[in-house]
Amino acid sequence: PEFGYVDLNALVKNTLFFVAQHPEARNIHRVKELTRDMPLVWADQKQIQQVLFNIIINAIQAMSDGGTLLVQTDGIRHDGKSFGRVQVTDSGKGIPAEELEKIFVPFFTTKTQGTGLGLPICRQLLEQHGGSIRVESKVGEGTTFTIELPAAEGQL
Ligand code: ADP
Ligand code: MG
Repeated sequence: PEFGYVDLNALVKNTLFFVAQHPEARNIHRVKELTRDMPLVWADQKQIQQVLFNIIINAIQAMSDGGTLLVQTDGIRHDGKSFGRVQVTDSGKGIPAEELEKIFVPFFTTKTQGTGLGLPICRQLLEQHGGSIRVESKVGEGTTFTIELPAAEGQL
């Protein structure tokens, strides 16, 4: 891994720009709400880009009839530490309660062409960075994935 200072706002913008060319993104309304004072995080930029890409592609695939993709960023503090946070919310089909704990298990997929590896890899990469990923979902309403990464030394 190649660690350096990473601007999560810039990564979100890159990822959304890239995802916009995706054929499945055609009927998706994309909204971003990026905080102006986001702490830099100390991370491998390519790995975090991959995490955001996986989560955002999942969100788009959950909205096959169109919908809204909302990506929000902010800086938060808890447990005496600062974190950069990204939340990805879709208005898609949602995840049934009994599946919520399975989606981070390798090879769990509900897609005919799925690998079931996206979320397990996201969680592993984030944990290797001292970060986390969690999910909230309601069937028929949508899903929010929240990722957090520790702020770089001296940030916030
Ligand atoms: P894959 O995308 O290859 O299926 P993932 O690990 O990325 O594998 O996701 C596992 C499963 O979690 C998906 O098959 C899907 O059932 C569920 N999932 C992930 N993200 C969402 C989402 N935003 N909305 C609804 N279901 C989701
Ligand atoms: Mg996936």
